[in-house]
Amino acid sequence: MHQDATVSRPAPGRRFAGRLALSLTLLVALSAPASANYQTFLNKLWHDAHARGVPKSVFDEAFRGVKPSRDILPHANNQAEFKETAGAYFARRVSAARIENGRERAQEWSRTLAAIERHYGVDRYVVLSVWANETNYGGFMGGHSTIQALTSLVYYGYRASYFRKELLNALDILAHRDIDARHMVGSWAGAMGHTQFMPSSYKHYAVDFDGDGRRDIWTTIPDALASTANYLHRMGWRPGETWGYEVVASPGFDVRHAARRGTLTIAQWERLGLRRVEGKRFPRPSDRAHFYQPAGVNGPAFLLLPNFRVIKRYNNSNFYALAVGHLADRIRGGGPFVTPWPPDEALSRKEGKELQALLNRHGYRAGDPDGVVGPQTQDAIRDFQQSAGLEVDGYPTTDLIKRLRTID
Ligand code: CA
Repeated sequence: MHQDATVSRPAPGRRFAGRLALSLTLLVALSAPASANYQTFLNKLWHDAHARGVPKSVFDEAFRGVKPSRDILPHANNQAEFKETAGAYFARRVSAARIENGRERAQEWSRTLAAIERHYGVDRYVVLSVWANETNYGGFMGGHSTIQALTSLVYYGYRASYFRKELLNALDILAHRDIDARHMVGSWAGAMGHTQFMPSSYKHYAVDFDGDGRRDIWTTIPDALASTANYLHRMGWRPGETWGYEVVASPGFDVRHAARRGTLTIAQWERLGLRRVEGKRFPRPSDRAHFYQPAGVNGPAFLLLPNFRVIKRYNNSNFYALAVGHLADRIRGGGPFVTPWPPDEALSRKEGKELQALLNRHGYRAGDPDGVVGPQTQDAIRDFQQSAGLEVDGYPTTDLIKRLRTID
């Protein structure tokens, strides 16, 4: 799960694609605290664990054989998504195999999913799709011991205050006997089980759906899926509504400034000239939605409903939420996007940084140049595009970099 580094909120699982590789300086700094004594580290941790009621026996069992390892750290800097086009991203996340697999899982777990839908009001296909997007239906949950992974991250100073809290939360879970340390496994960043809950999210949102007294998101599918549904429900999922619609613009519709109109009703968007693809109707004209084109004015366009933002609470990325929503629709039986992705090159991380630095230099506030083109950078791009008389779509391209370089 991606997470905005400045906002502390519980989130189930995170991959940090956008944020973890914050800077090279951070990685360099990782070597600094290595001389700190591991026993001192454990003593301090025990002090805090004890204070929150973790029994000594649980603590000792959790750390038996655990030694901080730097092996975990290269994962932090291995972020393949940075040079991936939108088309490649969605082809990977919404593949034919995943659609097929999702349909089989929908059959296999139909009773459970129906019960989950009744109880939480969350669309079963969205739950399945989160499962697919997090771990490929449990196919890759990450083989890391959660205690070992979090200990390594904290010990070597990688966002240590954040991960230390998660380490203490993980100890709380062990103290509660929902799982033992040996079976508490997940990603290198501490996201656990089928639906990749961080320990803090687990504590707040995991549920025991099969009623055996344990909240088991590692091996009990009903618990894992219901925990995801519960999370989405608690984040404000609106029952009976979808995430959004692919739309196409009538010739008179000014696509360039549409994103800046903010949130309008579907009926207002229709009056402005948007319609659903393939002649489908919008079910509720009074729904409020905003316009989104993930790959610029030449790519697919969407009207996004409030549930889109709820999916983003799982992973704070527009692409992720769109992949979850779209895969859900495909498993349900819907077709692919009608408008193809433009054959555009995504910017590399380095190019993203340069673009942000150039925008900042010329007074378009792109924020900290971290190479991650988020909403703030897109706003800055739009401002620049507008003042330069270009199409205003907020989409980062190498052409923009070239143009900005030539400005005095
Ligand atoms: Ca259970």
